[in-house]
Amino acid sequence: MWEELYREALEEGWKKLQRIPGVITGFHSTIDGLKRVEEDLLKRLLEQFPHIKSIPSEPTSVIRSPEDLLVDLLISIREGLAYQRMIENEETFRWTLENIGYDQLRLGGTSANMASLLSPLPLSKILVYANPLTKELAELFPERKNLFVLTRENDKPVLRSPRKAWKDQGIFAIHWILEYNKGLKIELDGTTYESPRANRFIAAWNPVNCRLRVSEEFKRDIFLIPDKFTHFLVSGFHILLERYPEGKTCEDFIVPVAEFVSQMKERLGLKVHYEFASIGSSLIRSLVVKHIFPVIDSLGLNEIEFATLLSDFGEQDLAKELKDTRFPIVKLVDGLLKIMERTPLKRIQLHTLGHYISITREKNERNERTALLFSAILAATRSLLGRYETLEDLEKGLGVPTITLTGYEGIKNIDNFSLVIVPTKVVQSPKLTVGLGDIISSSGFLLS
Ligand code: ADP
Repeated sequence: MWEELYREALEEGWKKLQRIPGVITGFHSTIDGLKRVEEDLLKRLLEQFPHIKSIPSEPTSVIRSPEDLLVDLLISIREGLAYQRMIENEETFRWTLENIGYDQLRLGGTSANMASLLSPLPLSKILVYANPLTKELAELFPERKNLFVLTRENDKPVLRSPRKAWKDQGIFAIHWILEYNKGLKIELDGTTYESPRANRFIAAWNPVNCRLRVSEEFKRDIFLIPDKFTHFLVSGFHILLERYPEGKTCEDFIVPVAEFVSQMKERLGLKVHYEFASIGSSLIRSLVVKHIFPVIDSLGLNEIEFATLLSDFGEQDLAKELKDTRFPIVKLVDGLLKIMERTPLKRIQLHTLGHYISITREKNERNERTALLFSAILAATRSLLGRYETLEDLEKGLGVPTITLTGYEGIKNIDNFSLVIVPTKVVQSPKLTVGLGDIISSSGFLLS
């Protein structure tokens, strides 16, 4: 039965995407700078700080100096844990650029990634918010006819390919992905530390995006263009800071974004999806729940992010049980019902490795099922081939077997909510797994 439903979903989803007038993604597009960390780089860096004799137990909450960055990197290596920290000042950013640099630049940021992952699909327009759009960032976007940024020409707002609309040259924001292998050694004052596994430390300098500052030009021009948009994928709250060096707090930046999203919704008639991503700070999470949840239609997250959200809502026992019992579907459903009861959300889409679940207030089960199955085909294809370009590629993803059923799959109605649970296709030796969550949630939302 599921294989047949999958086949129908591919055909139906492909057709339905063509009927969507336009999709906007904002407000976080950036450059990722990939750098492999080796022993000689660490030695060179440590020579600049001869007074460092040991590695502290905890990383800093924010990177305020080159020394903070180095120490946090050393902690990540010693523990094999993937920390992510924001760089707070420009001197540290310049120092890192000069002293660490990068091996390769890659498109980064949830909005840029979603736009890029959606662009091979038969969608007529995708407008990505990328600011500041430098030549370096613009050239990382794929060249596609349906991918645009909002810019001005002859004093009029127009949609143009990012590659034709860049303004400045240079790197003004970068998320360093400092990757290391298992067994990387650090020699420090006679002690040797060794990374227990391969992982990465992310240090991000992004003064504009980390304040979610939307340009005045975009705020005005989005309402002036004649082009029709119907869907908006909003994200980027995970790179906010609790406090800023100038004395502002995250709430100072969340509130204006929430107001602007609400305006866009009202004046453009958009449906809005928010991709949760992993937000380390419970303060920022609570403010996102308070200000952003009321202005969105749909929320996307994975099971770990969902357990954290449940804890924030006072459901620590259920969150713990979920983690201890490896996220059984019945318990996930219990949790989803609790969140729907306590928030104004219209829809939640949850993805795990074997199943996707959506819960909605309105009855829309057939569309929801098609949406989830189509997004599972995209995830399977990307895992299998490392990319998808054509309908033929997606047919290869369709060929991946659907994993074992548990008996909970299907459509259910509980307490006035509609639930759709689908079994997914899991690729045994995936070629690529980055960005899968983003593609599952964004495509699922568009087809829901
Ligand atoms: P990310 O932030 O890296 O995108 P998420 O945890 O949000 O990570 O999403 C990853 C999702 O990708 C999983 O929940 C699962 O549904 C899907 N996925 C991961 N590995 C595979 C695989 N080998 N085959 C198919 N789907 C996969």
